[in-house]
Amino acid sequence: MFKFELLHQSKKSSARVGKIHTPHGVIDTPNFVAVGTNGTLKALDNATVSDIGLQLMFCNTYHLLLQPGTQVIKEAGGLHTFIHRKLPIITDSGGFQVFSLAYGSVADELKSRGNKSTGNLVIKIDEEGVLFRSYRDGSKVLLTPETSVQAQKDFGADIIIPFDELPPYHIKNDALEISLARTHRWEKRSLDTHLKARNNQAMYGVIHGGINLDLRKLSCETLTKLDFDGYAIGGSMGKTKQEMHSILTHTLPLLPKEKPNHLLGIGDLESIDRGIALGIDTFDSSYPTRAARHGVALSWKGQVKLTRSENASHFGPIDKKCACSTCQRFSLAYLHHLFKAKELSALTLASIHNLHFMVEYMATLREKIAQGLI
Ligand SMILES: [Zn+2]
Repeated sequence: MFKFELLHQSKKSSARVGKIHTPHGVIDTPNFVAVGTNGTLKALDNATVSDIGLQLMFCNTYHLLLQPGTQVIKEAGGLHTFIHRKLPIITDSGGFQVFSLAYGSVADELKSRGNKSTGNLVIKIDEEGVLFRSYRDGSKVLLTPETSVQAQKDFGADIIIPFDELPPYHIKNDALEISLARTHRWEKRSLDTHLKARNNQAMYGVIHGGINLDLRKLSCETLTKLDFDGYAIGGSMGKTKQEMHSILTHTLPLLPKEKPNHLLGIGDLESIDRGIALGIDTFDSSYPTRAARHGVALSWKGQVKLTRSENASHFGPIDKKCACSTCQRFSLAYLHHLFKAKELSALTLASIHNLHFMVEYMATLREKIAQGLI
């Protein structure tokens, strides 16, 4: 059931247009993937998200494992039924979150802040996997390649991700090499578990190697020999857009053209523009919804800060050309008022606009690639 169809390859760049076929429908690529950590996008319900036209949604295994737990989702009939989503879902392995607990996030680390409040929740990391304490009820949870894949099987996601280690950004090369070798062993174990019962699900291998280009190459060589349905690019992408660009420029030509690829956790407009020219098919990010909750609306003319006083008596929509349900019904002045009055509907209405913008933005990019402009 899972199939990647390449429709157009640009002659001008590595950009391409395609379709990913899944049991829950088609994802046109390149595309933006909305992040619904707990099985919902913040401030939106899943019926609204589908109406906006977001074809793929990203949910986080780590969070769903701890609340409501695999059993509840399984009893509900799987994640699609439980959260009322008929369209495709991708889940991650939980590795990213559990290692962020252990090492702090890259952002924490760059600010040399560490993640002291939650760091002590990880009890043990060894070859088997990671033993940590639930932040919800203090119970011990063992996350291994096998338990992570089993959870994603129980969720019934269309695309699943093998269990991997997220090493800290400031890691020495020899330690990164050891971490990469273990990640490759974990990904192989994840794939073996997945292949015992495919259940119409696809699995993307995750390319690691941090900012070391030789290790990125080794990771591509190792994982493309295995029977993954596509590839995600994960791990540290550096601290600047330039560093990320260099990693992607080096990595993407090493991935098989006939399989889809995904850039994990990055989806701001500049990175999307750069990424599609290099051949990235899908991007996930919470950027548009987070911006919306901070009163920032995306538009073709740039960002619109809804809370600015000049918007208090602007009685037209955020964007006259926008066909989203917010712009069709409500004025910028009203949104400005809702944000000032700290009304929750402000977050919902701004999120609807920003996600609609992302859907339009990606459709325009696909069109431009097809026309030979990118
Ligand atoms: Zn709008």
